Formats: sequence, structure tokens, C-alpha cells
Amino acid sequence: MQQTSTPITKDLVLIGGGHSHAIALRMWAMKPLEGVRITLITESSSTPYSGMLPGHIAGFYTHAECHINLRSLAQFAQAQLYIDTVVGLDLVNKQILCAHRPPVSFDVLSIDIGSTPASVNVPGANKYAIAAKPVANLLTQWQQIVEDNEKPLSLGIVGGGAGGVELALAMQGNLQNHVKIHLFHRDAEIMPHYGGWVRRRLQAILRQKGINLHLQETVIEVQPNKISCESGLKVECDRIFWVTQASAPGWIIESGLATDSQGFVQVNDYLQAISHPNIFAAGDIATMINYPRPKAGVFAVRQGKPLFNNLQKTLLAGRLQAYKPQKTYLSLIGTGDGKAIASWGNFGIGASPLLWNWKDKIDRQFMDRFHKLPSMSEPLVEMRCAGCGSKVGSTVLERVLQRLERIENTPDIVIGLDAPDDAAVVKVPEGKLMVHTIDYFPALVNDPFIFGQISANHCLSDIFAMGAIPQSVLAIASIPYATESKVEETLYQLLSGALLILNQAQIPLIGGHTTAGLELGFGLSCNGLASPHNASLLKVQTLMVICENDP
Ligand SMILES: Cc1cc2nc3c(=O)[nH]c(=O)nc-3n(C[C@H](O)[C@H](O)[C@H](O)COP(=O)(O)OP(=O)(O)OC[C@H]3O[C@@H](n4cnc5c(N)ncnc54)[C@H](O)[C@@H]3O)c2cc1C
Repeated sequence: MQQTSTPITKDLVLIGGGHSHAIALRMWAMKPLEGVRITLITESSSTPYSGMLPGHIAGFYTHAECHINLRSLAQFAQAQLYIDTVVGLDLVNKQILCAHRPPVSFDVLSIDIGSTPASVNVPGANKYAIAAKPVANLLTQWQQIVEDNEKPLSLGIVGGGAGGVELALAMQGNLQNHVKIHLFHRDAEIMPHYGGWVRRRLQAILRQKGINLHLQETVIEVQPNKISCESGLKVECDRIFWVTQASAPGWIIESGLATDSQGFVQVNDYLQAISHPNIFAAGDIATMINYPRPKAGVFAVRQGKPLFNNLQKTLLAGRLQAYKPQKTYLSLIGTGDGKAIASWGNFGIGASPLLWNWKDKIDRQFMDRFHKLPSMSEPLVEMRCAGCGSKVGSTVLERVLQRLERIENTPDIVIGLDAPDDAAVVKVPEGKLMVHTIDYFPALVNDPFIFGQISANHCLSDIFAMGAIPQSVLAIASIPYATESKVEETLYQLLSGALLILNQAQIPLIGGHTTAGLELGFGLSCNGLASPHNASLLKVQTLMVICENDP
């Protein structure tokens, strides 16, 4: 969580923990911008490094070795981390719509969500084939296949681009003669974005390894355990993997961002959306209008640094720097057997173990940048007076309360948030005892929405432990110094989390106190009602009597 004495004035939100964002976050940690709050919204707390993914499937790398831990990285960059799936953008109100949380506001936005294999028109593909992305799902399915690997298996792979070819070689390398692999590709040659030498060499290697290469075959239907092609060819396969050409999620085009014909965000040489100057995109999801390139991890990695520079320049109102991706680049492709081939344009050598060792060294060095994050010294913070002047303004609070969904007050609440006063007033019904507790925590996680939920659950637990029924709660929150709109955003996320729990339990929020401080903190004072006969209260009553009688 951002700990700074400078008020937050800008929100930079990154959607997707892809390669470019991982690099940008690491660079941000080394050179943060005062007053900018950075938030990463991504589906999972780890993200795969594409260069080592085929090696993991081949059995050379563990899951941890080829995944970047986004939680540690976010912490290193003092970024908020929201684990959620983005499902839309409201560009008019500059908000990000998520599947499981309230909308998230931004000033500057960057998108690096990768792509998924296109399967649009092929009946049965979505239902019966395993898509190469999301990678987490691919790896879960693959793990099961490896664990159940008792009888010989036939696997179908649809798509003969770099991903499909590497997947075929890696699977073959792992399961060896326990597997028969069928690779389907609609063109006469595999890997359309590579030079002639690589295509021919890999085609020969695939055949040497006994992989059935079905070229000029267009898959038109997938049934359980069967692939049907336009030519009439039908092949029985126990499991089918879908690694076709990359596609973009529908919400990108629906948001109003300018996209290419396939729905990828069109960006200029600054990686800036051509339709919205405060939005950037990198990796597979972006199409550089002046430099079209294949959708490959290598480009996503290289865009990390220019993306970071231009995000900072935008926030500082500086001049953006143009970026021109290389046209020809060195490619090291593993063959699933501890060897690799190297290619540069139309030239290439291998397969050889030396090239694999070289690739392995480069990939491990890259991942070490994320696995061994340097320890940063604590930022210096200057103390502020935290008297009544630190109170968050009433207009901010009012706006937040209006945006929240709260349950109605119960008849016990005489003065609550509907007509707020200096203090809330509640009735204690006749014959009942009132149980009070208070708990308060500094931020436990760098996501205020989740933090609000955790705190609310914890605070209520004391009431339940006393055998009482919660009646009402008061909230106390400390929000990091920021401009009004940024305080509002944090408070909104925090209270949305707390109210999710309180509304489920039908407990009204009746008041509270919100202050600005160095770091996020939140707690609830809870009131509960209990019957005097309740067993767990008897010990308290006894204690009270003892205290009263004790001189
Ligand atoms: C089997 C296979 C092997 C490959 N091998 C190679 C290789 O060896 N070399 C190479 O250069 N390329 C390879 N590729 C291609 C490579 O994986 C992609 O080009 C690369 O991952 C793109 O990187 P990215 O940063 O754009 O996004 P990704 O690496 O895909 O990361 C996107 C991130 O965004 C998150 N995300 C996605 N959608 C949402 C959402 N709606 N809300 C929130 N978060 C979201 C994801 O969880 C993920 O963390 C391979 C692809 C496949 C399928």
C-alpha cells in the first residue's frame, strides 16, 4: 500500500498482469511518482512467463519457476492489487467495470490482458476443446493428464502457429511414447510468422518425433474425443487443445476504444490508444498501427519499458517517447527434449542442447528479476498533525454514502445515518443486554474492498462469540492523504467491502469517523443484543459483579 506524505492526486490503473505490466511495475518500484496511486487489477495473483511455459509443460520447470508472483510485485511497487476480472469500461465516467467488485475509477489507464485463441465459428470447440488461454486452465488440465498418464493417449492440437508447435513438442517431450499427437493446421506450412528455415526445420523435427502433422486441414467441428476437418478427415483424440490465432474479448470493442478489425486496441507509437489519450495498451491486446507485429510474448516484454516511460510522462504532462519494435529478432525455440533451435529472420541453427542451455540461462535471468526483488529502504514519511483537521470532509462522506447500497435502519435506531448528528442513538429493547466491541486494523491487504470485508467479518465475530445478535455498527476509517476524489475512491471501495458483509447479515451502519492518515486503516465498533440468560454472557455478568464489588 502506498505510504507517502504527499497526497494522492492521480489514479493510474493497470488492467491485466501481463508481461508489459510486470516490467512496468518493477520499474515503477524503482522510480515511483509522488502523488500517484497505482492499482493492478488482474484475474490471478500469478502470471505465466510465456518464454518458459512450453518448458514447464515439457517438465523442465516448476509452476513457481515460470510464474511471476504479482502479489509480491505489487507490494514491491507499493501498488494496490485487486484480484478480479475486468468485464467492461465506462469511458465517459472513467471507470473500470469488474465482475465481483464496485467500479474502479482511473485518471490514466493501461491494458495488458493478453489474448485468447479464436474459436468463434467452430461448433463444439468452446465446449470440448481446452483453450491455450487462460493459461491457468490449460495447466490444470495438463497436470491431470500427466497424473493420469497410465494408458497410451492421443492428443489433438488445433493451430500450427508458434504456440501450437511448441505445445506439441513440449507434450511429446513430457509423455514420450505414451502419447500420439495430431497437429492440425489450415495452411501448407506451420508458423506463418517465421522464416522459411525455421518452418522447414521444425516441420522435420515434428515428423521425426512421430507427431502427425495434418497440413491444409481446416477443423470444422469438435465432438467429444473427435476432430472433423473440412476435407472429410476425422481423427479420434482423447483430449483436444485449441491454440488458434489470437482474439480479443468483446468488452474492448464495446467500450468505445478504437480497435482493429479483430477487436485489438489500436495504439500509436507511444502505445497510447488512438481514440483516448489517457489510455494505453501493450502486449497481445494492442495493435501498433504503424508497426503490426505477431502476437508474441517477446513483443509484450519489450513494450514494458516504453510503456512505463510513457505512463510516467503522461502523469507528469511531459512529452511522450516514440517506440519502434524490432522487425527481425532472435528467436530461441525449445524442442521439448532439452534442445532448442535459434532463428534470426530466414537464418537458423539447431536443434542443439547448447542453444537450450543458452535459452534457459536467458529465461532464468529474466525471471530472477521478479523472483529476487531488491529490498527497498522504507520511504521517509513526514509526520502530520492528525487532530480534527485530519477529518475527511463531510461532502466526500456524503457522496460516498449516496453511492453505497445500505440496508434500512431497524426500529431500534433512533438517530442513524439517514439523519446524522454528532452521535448515533439506539434503543436497547427491554429485557436485553447490550454487548459492545471495537476492533481496528491497519491495512492487511492492498485491496481496500477485500480489506473492508475482512475487517467487517472480524469485528462482528466478537459479537457472535458472546452469543449476541449484532444490532448496529459504527465505522472508523483512516484514509491515506489524497485529493478529495482519491479519498472518495478509497472510502467507496473500503465501505463497499464492509457493507457487503453488513448487508448480508442485515446490520445497519449508523455512523462513524473518517480521518486522513499515512496509511489505510479500518475498524468497526459493533453493538449486539443478548438475552441475560445467554450462557456465554453469564461469565461477563459475573465478572462485572466482581468488579463492582471490588474496592
Ligand atoms: C502454449 C503457448 C506457448 C507460447 N509460447 C510462447 C513463447 O515461447 N514465446 C513467446 O514469445 N510467446 C509465446 N506464446 C504467446 C504468448 O503467450 C503471448 O504472446 C503473451 O503471453 C502475451 O503477453 P501479454 O503481456 O500480452 O499477456 P499475457 O501474458 O497473456 O497476460 C495477460 C494477463 O492479464 C490477465 N487478464 C486477462 N484478462 C483479464 C481481465 N479481463 N481482467 C483482468 N485480468 C485479465 C491474465 O490473467 C494475465 O495475467 C505462447 C502462447 C501459447 C498459448
